[in-house]
Amino acid sequence: MKKKYLYLFPLLIILGMVISFSLSLADFKDFKSTLEVFMSRPENIVHNRKSPVNETIASPESATRIDNGVTPTVGTVTPPPANPPVKTLSVPILMYHEIGDGPSSLYVSEKNFRAQMHYLRSNGYKIVTMTQAREMLANKQIPPKVAVITFDDGYVSIYNRAWPILEECAFPATVYVCSSFPGLYNYLTWDHIKILHSGGVEIGSHSHTHPALNTVSPTALAQEVVGSKQILEQKLGTKIDSFCYPCGAYNENIPAVIKKAGYTSAVTVNFRKATSQDDLYLLPRIRVFKADTISSFAKNIQ
Ligand SMILES: [Zn+2]
Repeated sequence: MKKKYLYLFPLLIILGMVISFSLSLADFKDFKSTLEVFMSRPENIVHNRKSPVNETIASPESATRIDNGVTPTVGTVTPPPANPPVKTLSVPILMYHEIGDGPSSLYVSEKNFRAQMHYLRSNGYKIVTMTQAREMLANKQIPPKVAVITFDDGYVSIYNRAWPILEECAFPATVYVCSSFPGLYNYLTWDHIKILHSGGVEIGSHSHTHPALNTVSPTALAQEVVGSKQILEQKLGTKIDSFCYPCGAYNENIPAVIKKAGYTSAVTVNFRKATSQDDLYLLPRIRVFKADTISSFAKNIQ
């Protein structure tokens, strides 16, 4: 080779390096765009969701794609299970009677009641009416920290003592009244009941005269269950959906009578939280006792 061409060698080496680098860059761009296409596919990003069970699906379109069962193309991607196990959900339905300092076991002091309501408020509880809780139980969709506050019998202390505290906390309640009691000594009047109802309190039936329903004749049973509903509906101009067994007494036939009368739920005095597995016409409650402390109250509703 002639000496004058020797200077071409370094030039050829540099040219080779430039071509080789350009080819690598093209490969990298190809790889990058392939990766971007892969990552944009919904079936490949579903597995990154932290809680697929509770999360709302962003759009009907993406829901369709997920429900169509598109199998992820990469072996390491695991789709969420089609039918996640059903969790048992529960809600404490609190039961009160009288608020004040009376001698009987039906009383919870005003001081304790206020402390209990403030505990619920400061701990982030959402208070719902019995009808709202019934819908949550029926649909098995109960958010955490939901509770119901119920009062049996319709004592006047609900209006005089409990209602101002409930208003302080902006809590609704459910009051089960006997349709023959309004105006009797120590009981709510119809005017009280109407004021409570218009203030967001749900009124339910606690029968007409408060007998143990498992001891009365079929005719009397109808009057207690159907008759009380009609009286309350006529007095308040609203539908009465919720029932409460007087003395907590029932037998195997009575829940069907309550349902046939048009009620959507019934509560007992069985002591535990209600769950989405419970019969809606035999819902248990958490009774609040005179001797309850804030820690026993908190423990019972946990
Ligand atoms: Zn009662």
